Amino acid sequence: MRGWWQAAADLVLGVCCPLCGAPGLHACRACVTAIAPDPVLLDVGDISVAVAGVHQGPRREALLAWKVGGAASLDPLMAHHLAAAVVSLIGETSSLALVPVPSTRRSRRERGRDLVTDLAAATARTLVGVGVDAQVRPVLRLRRQTRDQHALSRRERALNVAGSMVAQRAPSGPVVVVDDVLTTGSTLLEAVRALAEAGAFPILGAAAVVTAQAGSSPVASHPDDGLRSR
Ligand SMILES: [Zn+2]
Repeated sequence: MRGWWQAAADLVLGVCCPLCGAPGLHACRACVTAIAPDPVLLDVGDISVAVAGVHQGPRREALLAWKVGGAASLDPLMAHHLAAAVVSLIGETSSLALVPVPSTRRSRRERGRDLVTDLAAATARTLVGVGVDAQVRPVLRLRRQTRDQHALSRRERALNVAGSMVAQRAPSGPVVVVDDVLTTGSTLLEAVRALAEAGAFPILGAAAVVTAQAGSSPVASHPDDGLRSR
């Protein structure tokens, strides 16, 4: 929670929309409107994955400003999008556990925080605000540190994460795995595998803010596109 003194300091120091530079504490209305959630459901392996949109245009700019640029003021916007994806996945379910995919030590060091767990927490608050009883259950741990997925092929990614996660316990009730970016889906599939092994049930699927996939074929990621792995 921001204290009044932080808001006051911002007024003195000057703050702006991290996307277009308009004055204000958060993303401005024009930018938020330009990247309204547009959820789609994808089949990844044998799970359903909901994403709020494709990683292109203004949505891509926003994701990069948040993930690579460190614009934490975009947390509520990212949470809004992830919450919309979750809602499109869960149907009538009104109570669920959000399980963030675990971050590598490298990712936490680069980002300065556990981005996906923070995103899950903000998303749970957003969902509670619309009447869905969502709780964050960060039960997944990495058994080993995985390689940066960024330059890996689909097959290499699958091998890189296979067996890498363990669930410390199974959350009770319906479960949705959450991540920021869906690339090949290998990370989400490993998360679901680990949760199922621990006895989680039912696992409704997974949700992400954006997908790097257009249709069924993955979009090649550019070295600077911010899609470096967890
Ligand atoms: Zn703006």
